[in-house]
Amino acid sequence: MRKKYFIAALILAFLLPSCGGGEEYRKTREIMGTYVTITVARGELPEMVVRGAVRDAFEEIERVDRLMSTYKPESQLSEINRLAGIAPVKVDPEVLETVRDALDVARRTDGAFDPTVGPLIRLWKIGSEEARLPTSAEIEKAKELVDYRQVVVDEPASTVYIKKKGMALDLGGIAKGYASDLAVSLLRKRGLTGGIVAVAGDIKFFGTRDGGRPWKAGIQHPRREGGLLARLEPGDAAMSTSGDYERYFMKDGVRYHHIIDPATGLPARGLISVTVLSKESYLADGLSTALFVMGPVRALAFARAHPEVEALMVTSEGRVLATGRFSGMDIEAVEADN
Ligand code: AMP
Ligand code: MG
Repeated sequence: MRKKYFIAALILAFLLPSCGGGEEYRKTREIMGTYVTITVARGELPEMVVRGAVRDAFEEIERVDRLMSTYKPESQLSEINRLAGIAPVKVDPEVLETVRDALDVARRTDGAFDPTVGPLIRLWKIGSEEARLPTSAEIEKAKELVDYRQVVVDEPASTVYIKKKGMALDLGGIAKGYASDLAVSLLRKRGLTGGIVAVAGDIKFFGTRDGGRPWKAGIQHPRREGGLLARLEPGDAAMSTSGDYERYFMKDGVRYHHIIDPATGLPARGLISVTVLSKESYLADGLSTALFVMGPVRALAFARAHPEVEALMVTSEGRVLATGRFSGMDIEAVEADN
C-alpha cells in the first residue's frame, strides 16, 4: 500500500494555514490511492447547492480514476495497454485529452516526462510491498519499452494506440492534476466563488475565501514530516509538488523513489523536491515530475526559459533553487543526506 498516513499529513500541512475560522465547507475522500480534499467558500449559496457541487466534483475525480487507473484492469487505460501492438482502443474524450496533454509535456521536456514509463513503474513497484531493486538486465529490457513517440492519438476516431507490444502508458504523473482541473471547472460552473481541490500534492486554487480573503498554501518540507518549506498565496493557480519522500524504499542507505528517469531507468537523482505553479493543474503536475527528472541544472534552465511556470526546487545537497515569485522568498536550506 502507499504511504497514506504521510500523504494525509501532507494534505493537512497544505490546508491548515488556509482554514482558520472554519467557515468553509470541506470534505476528504480516498480516491486514486490517496486522499482528495475539496474545500470551498460557501458564498451566498444554499447549503444544498454547495454540498451537491462538492459531491459532483468528487465524482469527476472518481471518473478520471475509473478511466485512467493502471491499478484497475477494467479502466480504458488498462485496455490501451493490453492492446499495445495489437489494435487502437476507442476512448472517452477525457482519456484522449489526458494522453494528448501527456504527450505534449513529453515533447516539451524532451522525454524527461514520458507517459510510456509504464514498464519501468511495473518493474520497480515502488509504493507497494513488492518494491525491490531490479537487476540491470531487467532495467535495460524495460527501458527499451519506453518511448512516447510510439503512441498514436487519433482525434477524429477517438482512439489511442501504442505501436509496440509490451509498452504501457502510466498517467500517474499527470492524471491527478488533470482531475483537479476538471473538479475546479465543475465547481466554478455551479457558481462557487472560491475553493481548493487537493489531490495529494496536486492542488488547484480558484477565487477567494468568503469576504475576498486569499487562499493560503504551504509547501511540504521534504525532510521534516509535517513541516513547511514555504508559504504563499497562490491566487488563481495550480500548484504541484513532486518529492522523493512520497513513495520510496531504502536499501543500503540509498533512497529508491517513484519518479523514474526514462534515460537511466533508475529513480531520478539530483533533486529531492520540485514545486511548480502554473495556470493549469495538469501542466503543473506533468512539469513537476519532468523537472524532477531533469535534475537541478536542466530544470533551472527550463523554468527560467518558461516564465509561465514558476518553480521551487531543493537539490539533494539541500540547496534551494527558485524562479518567478519563489525567487523573492526567504527559504532556508534543507538538511538532506539521503
Ligand atoms: P508525481 O508524484 O506527480 O511526480 O508523479 C509520479 C508518478 O508519475 C509515478 O508514480 C509514476 O506513476 C509516474 N512517473 C514516474 N516517472 C515518470 C516520468 N519520468 N514521466 C512520467 N511519469 C512518470
Ligand atoms: Mg506530477
